[in-house]
Amino acid sequence: MNLNDYIASIEDYPQEGVTFRDITPLMANGPAFAQATQEIVDYAREVGAEVAVGPEARGFIVGCPVAYAMEIGFAPVRKKGKLPREIIEVEYELEYGTDLLTMHKDAITPGQKVIIIDDLLATGGTVKATIDLVEKLGGEVVGIAFLIELKELNGREKIEGYNYKALMQF
Ligand code: IMP
Repeated sequence: MNLNDYIASIEDYPQEGVTFRDITPLMANGPAFAQATQEIVDYAREVGAEVAVGPEARGFIVGCPVAYAMEIGFAPVRKKGKLPREIIEVEYELEYGTDLLTMHKDAITPGQKVIIIDDLLATGGTVKATIDLVEKLGGEVVGIAFLIELKELNGREKIEGYNYKALMQF
């Protein structure tokens, strides 16, 4: 099955000149979603992941089934103000200005091998902030998995030196 067939491309969304890649048709198709999940599970096993970390919201959708299949835990990365207990935070760049991403302080055990999972690598700002959070907590990022990499935005430069895998490239 070719996973690319299940990605919808929307021109000029959310603004003119941008092509948005929509993963909801893939999520809606059981065999396609299962195949994508299995490919990330295989990769996560290969890199020896002990816990999965994903940024809200689509990182949860892609990451949680992987954690379930591997019987490992999942730790959420959230925007500031959403996690109820003691947190750490890092700033990350948006198109205009910055925002904060947070994790619970006890989400990762020092030395734990972490796989970061998100739907899409664009400029790399989100994944870089997620790496910073994991490393602040003493975790070791052993792998990073995306459904999609948008190649022309060069996000891979922000994760140079880290092992990563994208199931599809546009
Ligand atoms: P980055 O921080 O620029 O790499 O952007 C990645 C984040 O933005 C991911 O968490 C995505 O969910 C979201 N994102 C950016 N562009 C798209 C897109 O075309 N489709 C779906 N999500 C996108």
